[in-house]
Amino acid sequence: MSDRLRIALQKKGRLADDSFALLKACGLRFAIRGGGLLARVKNMPIDLLLVRDDDIPSFVSNDAADIGIVGENVLVEEQLTGELDATIAMRLGFSRCRLCLAAPDGGTVKSKTDLSGTRIATTYPGVTRRFLSDSGIDAKLVEMKGAVELAPSIGVAESICDLVSSGATLEANGLSAFETILKSEAVLIRSSRELSAAKTELLDKLLRRIEGVIKSSETKYIMLNAPKSQVAAITNLLPGSDAPTVMPLAGNDELVAVQAVCTENVFWETLEDLKALGARAILVLPIEKMMS
Ligand code: ATP
Ligand code: ZN
Repeated sequence: MSDRLRIALQKKGRLADDSFALLKACGLRFAIRGGGLLARVKNMPIDLLLVRDDDIPSFVSNDAADIGIVGENVLVEEQLTGELDATIAMRLGFSRCRLCLAAPDGGTVKSKTDLSGTRIATTYPGVTRRFLSDSGIDAKLVEMKGAVELAPSIGVAESICDLVSSGATLEANGLSAFETILKSEAVLIRSSRELSAAKTELLDKLLRRIEGVIKSSETKYIMLNAPKSQVAAITNLLPGSDAPTVMPLAGNDELVAVQAVCTENVFWETLEDLKALGARAILVLPIEKMMS
């Protein structure tokens, strides 16, 4: 293969847009046009291989790509059902979902203890089988390629094992999840093959940048005015912050300005708690880039 680092990505779907956005935030410049299998990154020796998500683990394993971005659910399923040389190099935090067992509301299956002797429809036979054997449950798998949520209503299975994010699809089909068997997020995967020195250097650089992008998306800069007497209590409330900067305010002896970098999400509840301690003029600002 050439000395351009090749990254396998989902061409279109629930992973695609966030994968493209992540790489763009890392400074890669590229354009995705309909149809093409390969997109060239203009400002770095990187090519993007645009494929179906299910093919990404095996492409990485078989050297068609050096690394890939795929749902952990797909990676684990492929690891369990085939010979695969691909493991997680970094968790990416987007495309979060759960692989769940679900059954019709008011039906015979209400929990995993009701599963023995029943049929479970799924597109994830590997992960489902592992769960059943770990739990000592003897049930029959009905493998489907899609539309698993319809299986109970057409009478091919008593329950399903499928991906859930908001639960809206389950609800629309009169189903309720009763057991989570895998939690998933997008992951960056690679094989155990050694890369050339140039590719190794490029991959390290990319991983550091991805870390920076993920960290800065969760990190906020918080600014507020606070009564001097409450600075300690207020600092305690700031999520994941080191010692804040505390500065006097011109012409005001009671209040000081407090500024801090918070490395965890700042929720409305935190702001309400800060206000209750006397904090005023609270600003939460995004941080665009970070490197430590
Ligand atoms: P492809 O055409 O590439 O095979 P697909 O239809 O198999 O696409 P998508 O529906 O685009 O796949 O989902 C891709 C991944 O997004 C899933 O494997 C999963 O990791 C993640 N995902 C997040 N939320 C959900 C959800 N509610 N349902 C399905 N997948 C989800
Ligand atoms: Zn797919």
